[in-house]
Formats: sequence, C-alpha cells, structure tokens
Amino acid sequence: MPIRISRMTVEDIRFPTSRERDGSDAMNPDPDYSSAYVVLHTDGGLSGHGSTFTIGRGNDVVCAAIRAHEHLVVGRTLDEFIENPGAFWRHLTADSQLRWIGPDKGAIHLGLAAIVNALWDLYAKVAGKPLWRLLSDFTPEEFVRCVDFRYLTDAITPESARELLERNAPGKAERIDRLLKEGHPAYTTSAGWLGYPDDKIRRLCREAIAEGWTHIKVKVGRDLADDLRRLAIIREEIGWDRHLMVDANQVWDVPQAIGWVRELARFKPLWIEEPTSPDDVLGHAAIARAVEPLGIGVATGEHGMNRVLFKQLLQARAISYCQIDSCRVGGVNENLAILLLAAHFGVPVCPHAGGVGLCEFVQHLAMADFVAVGGSWEGRVCEFVDHLHEHFVDPCRVSSGRYRAPELPGFSTEIRSESRAEFAYSDGPAWKSGSPGGSR
Ligand SMILES: [Mg+2]
Repeated sequence: MPIRISRMTVEDIRFPTSRERDGSDAMNPDPDYSSAYVVLHTDGGLSGHGSTFTIGRGNDVVCAAIRAHEHLVVGRTLDEFIENPGAFWRHLTADSQLRWIGPDKGAIHLGLAAIVNALWDLYAKVAGKPLWRLLSDFTPEEFVRCVDFRYLTDAITPESARELLERNAPGKAERIDRLLKEGHPAYTTSAGWLGYPDDKIRRLCREAIAEGWTHIKVKVGRDLADDLRRLAIIREEIGWDRHLMVDANQVWDVPQAIGWVRELARFKPLWIEEPTSPDDVLGHAAIARAVEPLGIGVATGEHGMNRVLFKQLLQARAISYCQIDSCRVGGVNENLAILLLAAHFGVPVCPHAGGVGLCEFVQHLAMADFVAVGGSWEGRVCEFVDHLHEHFVDPCRVSSGRYRAPELPGFSTEIRSESRAEFAYSDGPAWKSGSPGGSR
C-alpha cells in the first residue's frame, strides 16, 4: 500500500546558546541556535523528520514558510517522491504564489529545505538505510533523477552528470569499505569562536590536538590586531603541520578582504571563508585572484541561496572549496545538484556544519559525495562543531578527527521528543524565567 503523508506538524525549537557566546563570530555575536522543525506523519505510523537552521529571531518566520507548503505535501504519497525526486522537488518549488516571495531564496526556500529533508528522512527509513548509503547505492540514472537541472544546463546537463557518475561507479564498493573503516575527514571550529578569552582558546586548541584534529578553523574579521594576536596563540599551540582555516562570516568589502587576508597570510591559512557578501560572485573571484599567490584558497557557500549561485561561483573560479549546507538551498535535492557541479568543476566539497543538527545532516551528503560523486577525499574535510548533539536520536559520532558513518536508517534528523518539549519556543521550560536553560 502506498505510504501517504497524512499530516504535517511544525515546531519552533530554540536553544539559548548566546549565554556562552557559543557560535559567536564577526557577523553573529549572540546566536541562539534554533531549529524550524517539521514532521511528516504517514498513515502507516512512520514519520519523516526535517528541519532548517536559524540563529533565533526569525525562526517563527521560517516555521510559517514551512506551513505555507502544506498543500503541496499533505495527501501526496512517498512513492510519488521516490519515483522521481527531481520532479517532486520541482513540484514543491513551483507554486507560483509562493515562488514570488523567493524564487529559490530567503525564508521560503529555508522552509522548503526543512520539508525536503523530512521527505528524504522518510525515504531512507522506508529503504532501511542511512541516507548516505541510500544515495551512494543509487545508479547514476537514479542519482540524476533527484536533480532539477533547470538553470544549470549551460554548466552541466543530465547526460554529462550521468557520465561523471558512471566514471566513478567502479570504485564505489571500495570507497564504501574505506568510509566504514576510516570515517570521513573532518575539522573542528570549536576552539575558535570570537567571543572566547585567550586562555579558553589555548585550552581548546590543546584539547583539539589531543583528540586527533589535524584541521582547525578560527573566526576572524572583527579587529585586525585581535586576529593577529589570536592566530599567533593558535599557531603556537597547534604548530605548523596542522592546517588552520580562517572565517570572516561576510564582514568585509572586497578591497578590505584582500588587505586583511594579506595581513593574516603570515599564519598560513589554508582558506579564507566567507570573506564578503555571500551573493557577490565577482567579488569572491577578485579575492580569489588576489590571495591565490599567497597559497590561500577562498571558501564559501553556507549562505549560498541556490544552485544558480553555486554554478556562478564555480564558473567564475571564485572558490577553491565548496561549502554546502544541509539546511540551505532546497534541501537534499538541490545539494546533490551542487555536488555534481563541484565535481564537474573539480572543486572539493567541504561542507559547513555546526549550529543545531547541521553536523548530523551534512555528514550524509559529504559521505555520498565521497562515494558516488567526488570519488576522492582529496581536499575534502567536513566541519564539526561540538554543540547540541545530545538532543538527537542518532547523534553524529566523531573520533580522531573523522566522522564515523551513521548506521541507523534515515537522515539523523530526529530531535529527541524530550528536547523538543524542553526547548520549545517560547513556552518550553528552558525559556521560562528563572529556569536553568536561561531566561529571556
Ligand atoms: Mg563559516
């Protein structure tokens, strides 16, 4: 019997992380990590869980955007989605009245991402596989069918995508074995938030080394003298054999970015992340040209709104590292399009994670990229931030600087019901005045 989506519920869940300055960077000094959370209920009792990520205020706006899609989802069957995931994705983005408040960008697209992620969670549960494995096991034909190629065919067509996947197909079984044995390469950002005092940075660097991390990322861009002092401390602690990455979270204009990165170049960062506006393709390209002779690459994508922007960044050779985000663009389907584009242009995918759930979700996409699309670990490293994993039913597992492959069926998207009740905004116990979770 077909699995029919009978009901959709939406929850506004917020964690008061701003109290500890966790997640603080040059653009975002006081985030409250939040989840706009959706459950797709089915007649048979199975449910698909999905969410998108915000940093507090506005989470209610995204919840409203999720609800606005209800008529496109409820009453449909999972089989319709499975039969042609790309066409179903087109259906979800094709309501012309909703499209007007995008298209393919902003709160409406974030809301869509939550629903699409829930659909994939449901699909993977029904298939009895973790999502990374479901995607990895697709034939090239099935993989290509997940993608809406509209606006992409000047760069990649369904035919060229299929050829790319076919070239990688022979090594898939071996790569799955390697992934299961070794885990996927990762890096940590936990040591480098801007709001942390120096002694905490030193302690966290030492802990990171003890835990086996070889790549460490640090926030920069608020004050140059402060950056130089903190980077000197970090290089002192981690030495010169480990990789250091820096992240400006969009604070600079283009000339300022070039000048600032030249100052930071003495600390040999591997990449400068989000040096300027996430929409500025030509600005990123100019920065990339300027810092390339210093041995520094440009990384961006966590705020990339859609596949068209990624296409342009890649066409303009504006990025050396492609940073997908599981909760942006239109969820899994559009991220698969971006994986294909990045592989086509020979740019490694180094996913953005952190927040609440981003590590849990994006590990699946990173692993599918390694197995089926990119076909190698060269230049690939997936972000890890050690916050809020305890709230997940299937939390990510990281050891010795690597993500271990998830084993449970699904997309690791489900937040524990007790946590959802505790942190429900604004009437959950964590948000009640005087509670240990914080008060607002
Ligand atoms: Mg970043």
